[in-house]
Formats: sequence, C-alpha cells, structure tokens
Amino acid sequence: CGIVGYVGRQPALDVIVAGLKRLEYRGYDSAGVAVLADGGLASARRAGKLVNLEKELADRPLPAGTTGIGHTRWATHGGPTDANAHPHLDNAGRVAVVHNGIIENFAALRAELAARGHQLGSDTDTEVVAHLLAESCPSGGDLAAAMRLVCRRLEGAFTLVAVHADAPDVVVGARRNSPLVVGVGADEAFLASDVSAFIEHTRSAVELGQDQIVEVRRDRITVTDFDGAPAEVRPYHVDWDASA
Ligand code: GLU
Repeated sequence: CGIVGYVGRQPALDVIVAGLKRLEYRGYDSAGVAVLADGGLASARRAGKLVNLEKELADRPLPAGTTGIGHTRWATHGGPTDANAHPHLDNAGRVAVVHNGIIENFAALRAELAARGHQLGSDTDTEVVAHLLAESCPSGGDLAAAMRLVCRRLEGAFTLVAVHADAPDVVVGARRNSPLVVGVGADEAFLASDVSAFIEHTRSAVELGQDQIVEVRRDRITVTDFDGAPAEVRPYHVDWDASA
C-alpha cells in the first residue's frame, strides 16, 4: 500500500518510519522495514498499526544504516499477520523487497521456486520476488539487472522496491500499473509510492514511467525499461502544500 526507500547519509530507519507515517492516511494493516548495515540486512515487521512496529524497533533495535526500505501493507494475498507483512526476504536473508499491487502469476512462480528448493514462509504473492531476485543476483552484483529479469517474468500490477546486503549503497525500484516516485536530495535520495513520504526532505522528484526500473544511489539515478534501454531522467518540482 505505502512504500518508502532511502539511501543517503541520515539514519535510514528514522527517515523511513517518518515517511510511512506520512502515508498512513492511505490505510494499511501491517508495517515493516529493512536496513542495510555492517555488511548485512536486518528487518522488522508487525501486523497492525505503525506503533506496533515502532514498539518492536524500540524493544529490539536494528543496527544503524543509511540505506533501507519500508512498507505499509494492505493485504490482498495472505491475512494481515506478522509473517505476511513486508519486507519479504530470500532464504539467505540477503535480499529484501516491498511491494504494492498484485502479482497475478505468483502461484506458478511459487511452485517453480519450491521445486528448486526455496522455502517460502508467507502466503503472499510478493515473497516470490525476493527469491527470484536472489537467484538472479547471488552476490548483489547488479541488482537493477536482476530486477529487470524478474520483472519480465511478472504479470499484474506492481511497485517493487528492493535492497541487497552486498550492494549497500543501492536501492532499486520498478513499476507497472502502480506508482513510484524518486525524490532527489543533496547526497541522498528517496523512493516512495507517493511524494508526501519525502516532501519534507526534497521538492525535486522523478516520476517513474510505465514498465521502468530505477537504480538509486545517493548521488545518481539511473532509469531503464525492463529490457535495459536507458530512459531519460527529468526531475520536476513538487509544489503542493506539504502541510496538506
Ligand atoms: N499483494 C501484496 C500483499 O498482499 C501487497 C499488498 C499491498 O499493496 O500492500 O502482500
């Protein structure tokens, strides 16, 4: 339902949780975050309101990092439980993904992954993406290229945002029939389903087009289509009232 990603110099979790709060108005049933830190990936997710996630983060703090992703979920496949909350991880715990929308062909992809030995731990349509990304990007080499490969296999509507523990300075996003906006800051960048998530930080935004992939670093944004052809990056100024 709501997506926030961050790469920069600030503590990622503070930026992400604040961004998720700005998206609360959309409605949701669960929330979660993942952060890259110390060469690894750490995550927390909880059914219910954001306060439940904040309590979890207070009780069991995650390591501090400056790259991360967050999600508020509106369940479509699988009930609103902790295990179905996003982010979803691969079995090695190196890749994390958040998703808005519905992946229509998830059942076939699930069966295929299970046959290859993957263990799926949720009832969501989303989780297959984490496993497919891990297969396509075993060492974090080119997460954007892996996202392109995976998106070509997906049917349905999706905004996807992912991180890989081996690529600590990168957040990758993708979209089809569901919105994704990048916020361009000074030595930092944001990804969100809605500009309200980052408007307190920057007014410079790049709207992703249909069937595009974005690789976001704190000082560079690269956009391609699902086949890897480069696309133009044209920031616009967000001029609506941030207090709305
Ligand atoms: N279909 C996904 C799920 O049920 C994502 C739902 C959403 O857009 O929040 O987990």
